[in-house]
Amino acid sequence: MKQIGHYINGEEVAGTSGRTADVYNPATGEVIAQVALADKSEMDKAVAIAAAAQPAWAAMNPQRRGRVMMKMVDLLHRDMDKLAEALSREHGKTFPDAKGDVIRGLEVVEYCIGAAEMLKGEYTDGAGPGIDMYSMKQPLGVTAGITPFNFPAMIPMWMFAPALACGNAFILKPSERDPSVPMMLAALFEEAGLPKGVLQVVNGDKEAVDAIIADETIQSIGFVGSTPIAQYIYGNGCAAGKRVQCFGGAKNHAIIMPDADMDNVVDALIGAGFGAAGERCMALSVAVPVGKETADRLIEALIPRVESLKIGPYTAGDDVDFGPVVCAAAKERIEGLVQSGVDQGATMAVDGRGFSLQGYEDGFFVGATLFDNVTTDMDIYKQEIFGPVLSTVRVDTYEDALKMTMDNEYGNGTAIFTRDGDTARDFASRVNVGMVGVNVPIPVPLAYHTFGGWKNSAFGDLNQHGPDAFKFYTRTKTVTSRWPSGNKEGAEFSIPTMK
Ligand code: NAD
Repeated sequence: MKQIGHYINGEEVAGTSGRTADVYNPATGEVIAQVALADKSEMDKAVAIAAAAQPAWAAMNPQRRGRVMMKMVDLLHRDMDKLAEALSREHGKTFPDAKGDVIRGLEVVEYCIGAAEMLKGEYTDGAGPGIDMYSMKQPLGVTAGITPFNFPAMIPMWMFAPALACGNAFILKPSERDPSVPMMLAALFEEAGLPKGVLQVVNGDKEAVDAIIADETIQSIGFVGSTPIAQYIYGNGCAAGKRVQCFGGAKNHAIIMPDADMDNVVDALIGAGFGAAGERCMALSVAVPVGKETADRLIEALIPRVESLKIGPYTAGDDVDFGPVVCAAAKERIEGLVQSGVDQGATMAVDGRGFSLQGYEDGFFVGATLFDNVTTDMDIYKQEIFGPVLSTVRVDTYEDALKMTMDNEYGNGTAIFTRDGDTARDFASRVNVGMVGVNVPIPVPLAYHTFGGWKNSAFGDLNQHGPDAFKFYTRTKTVTSRWPSGNKEGAEFSIPTMK
């Protein structure tokens, strides 16, 4: 059995805690590896190595650090297929989707090539007599990140690329479900020129996370995952005096106006609702058609498309629209929620229950499911399903659709489909959601903008990547200097003010 340890000080080392977790191939249900689960002493060791390595990395000028990012981009292109294959094997997503996972991470590394521009400070010449004032952005020191299973390449890169570009050391605690790709990324970064110990991967579960929170050297924590864990880490991390940003779960609504281009809407809902088996924080999981006629047309058009979705292992290539969900527990949870939808009175428009794939009977496959006549008191509406299930909630008016989206506890993404500019503009302006699509189903901003939700989808002040990342991973220091240095005015006992 393959054993996955930790990536410490430039090499993969075995775990010493004696605890491991099974890693599955979700398509077959087989255990394909065991990953070490770190204890506090292993985390302490990694932190000490990071703290020793960080000052020399920070002292390297930002343009040279940018060159390491540039080389990393080349290496990611070189190893794209290898990374995507490892990713699909442990996650279950299709091969093209796995490549997309790597590419969306690569784009943030690419953005970080220009770190020198982002790290420039401010300068005021002549702020007073002989006085100049300037600010600089300095790295925090040792930083850490905790990532979810659903984007094992993209989200680690969203965190560590800007953290490293700013001159920090970074410790990643990836998901224990698909740990291989993060380990490969750390090795690649070293090949790109990163000194040993600056980027380390410590595998683990809650014990490793608690060790990060308790550690006094670690200055910041980035987290992406479910909302309850985001709240736990945000609360405890802040109480421990760290800078923390936590991104949580989602329930993304798609508003379909009567004037929308229905072909575009159906393509959008099929791709964004069922791609990656719905295991995306930006998946569209709630369709909100406005008016009975719109709803009837939508359901009629969706049914044959949902019924004909091709589900299978990533090894089946282009013949597959989406793969299995990540583990047996996820499958069981999704199936339980689907059953609750039936029990609570939703209309089953396409029934994915009992799906089984010949030759892959032990895989964690879930059939595509479409619900109609869902109401906001049902569990399938209230909970994030994170599976291939689309719920349709019918409303009478645009204001009803807007209110429902705004009343939902989550605020990660949303989309409106319409041909009317006034409605689109009104929606984008008023809705209390962090990322809004207009005729775009998955409005994930590109690397040079920032990514982040509102309400219970995010905790903290700054978003991921884009300019916010350079704020999150640096501290501002402001220097006031006087030349000539002699104080000609004698002692001042009141607070200095501008002369
Ligand atoms: P998760 O919360 O179960 O796990 C995320 C990380 O937290 C993992 O590294 C895991 O080991 C750790 N963890 C799990 N339980 C913990 C505990 N009790 N104490 C401390 N740490 C713990 O999430 P997941 O199932 O890996 O990922 C799916 C979730 O992530 C979904 O809710 C999805 O919406 C969310 N997500 C959000 C975004 C975003 O940007 N908002 C992006 C991707 C995924």
